[in-house]
Amino acid sequence: KRRIGVMTSGGDAPGMNGAVRAVVRMAIHNNCEAFAIYEGYDGLVKGGDMIKEMHWEDVRGFLSEGGTLIGTARCMEFMQRDGRRTAAKNMIIKGIDALIICGGDGSLTGADRFRDEWPSLLEELIERKELTKEQVDPFRHLNIVGLVGSIDNDLSMTDATIGCYTSLARICEAIDSVDTTAVSHQRAFVIEVMGRHCGWLALSAGVATGADFVFTPENPPHPGWEKEMLKQVKKQREMGKRKTIVVVAEGAIDRDLKKVTCEQVKDVLAKDGGLDTRITTLGHVQRGGTPSAYDRMLATLQGAEAVKAVLEATPETPSPVICIQENKIVRRSLLEAVAQTKEVAVAIENKDFERAMQLRDTEFAE
Ligand code: ATP
Repeated sequence: KRRIGVMTSGGDAPGMNGAVRAVVRMAIHNNCEAFAIYEGYDGLVKGGDMIKEMHWEDVRGFLSEGGTLIGTARCMEFMQRDGRRTAAKNMIIKGIDALIICGGDGSLTGADRFRDEWPSLLEELIERKELTKEQVDPFRHLNIVGLVGSIDNDLSMTDATIGCYTSLARICEAIDSVDTTAVSHQRAFVIEVMGRHCGWLALSAGVATGADFVFTPENPPHPGWEKEMLKQVKKQREMGKRKTIVVVAEGAIDRDLKKVTCEQVKDVLAKDGGLDTRITTLGHVQRGGTPSAYDRMLATLQGAEAVKAVLEATPETPSPVICIQENKIVRRSLLEAVAQTKEVAVAIENKDFERAMQLRDTEFAE
């Protein structure tokens, strides 16, 4: 009987609970035992009560809850080998030999590192007499499966991450609310949305709300953007538009990698454009609330697929991450997906924005 652990890690995202529910129930359905690891890697390092067996009814109601009910944390101890060795020990004590992690690229990197070190961590535990060879022997292979939970939609190789469409819908609702004031007063609004290295939320919100201008990290504006933005705004106003909406990603930069701030954009619109301009920073509102139908479905289908991946894994199978590509739930190499994601950040650092956009591969990247 396999004993499968599930955890949520990194920033919370709507739909994570649906993923936990699906993993628990699919595991039980397949005659396995399921364990929730509370507070991300913290729970793995602390062990004890932080790792609890989950029954069918324990995840009742999870599907429609936002955030993550089993908690998440950033765990510094897991970044250290000592912490990972303790985590391995706790897993063996609980009899867990497979781990499904729902989190961002950091969490998935940590997971793969853990799997890579697993054999040597076990040897250390025996050498240090923390566990006996007999205790360790049944656990020689660790299965890791990744699920991508992140509102940013920033992982390569998947069209959507769990949570991104809920967040996008929330942003659109917020912009619609701001719109009423904007139209009434003929104002301009600069809206800051999340996305440190990824402009997907900003770009998608811009498309979905008909924004006038969007700032993203992957495709920074060219020098002289101030004039270009004002030209766009003026053109729209001349056609009778009574509002101006500019969406700025949290990580927006210019082509010299200097941060583009909402204040800066507001100054251009107000001083040079003569518009009554306000800034609205959406902040954590865009992470919260109930998951959309899409995220509930994605989390459910991917959670079920993650358990299947555990059951079908051989010692030779590389760790998979469960993705969605062209509406199909697929498994991809976790390492490759993380590596390609990191390449985007490197391309941006090197000012190779064309490459950054190619790697993002969104339909409307141009
Ligand atoms: P988000 O996209 O919301 O930032 P994330 O999963 O990328 O989510 P991180 O803070 O990068 O968030 O990582 C979450 C946790 O994963 C860390 O606190 C740490 O415990 C673990 N982790 C991240 N990177 C590594 C690594 N290289 N080695 C070991 N553990 C790691």
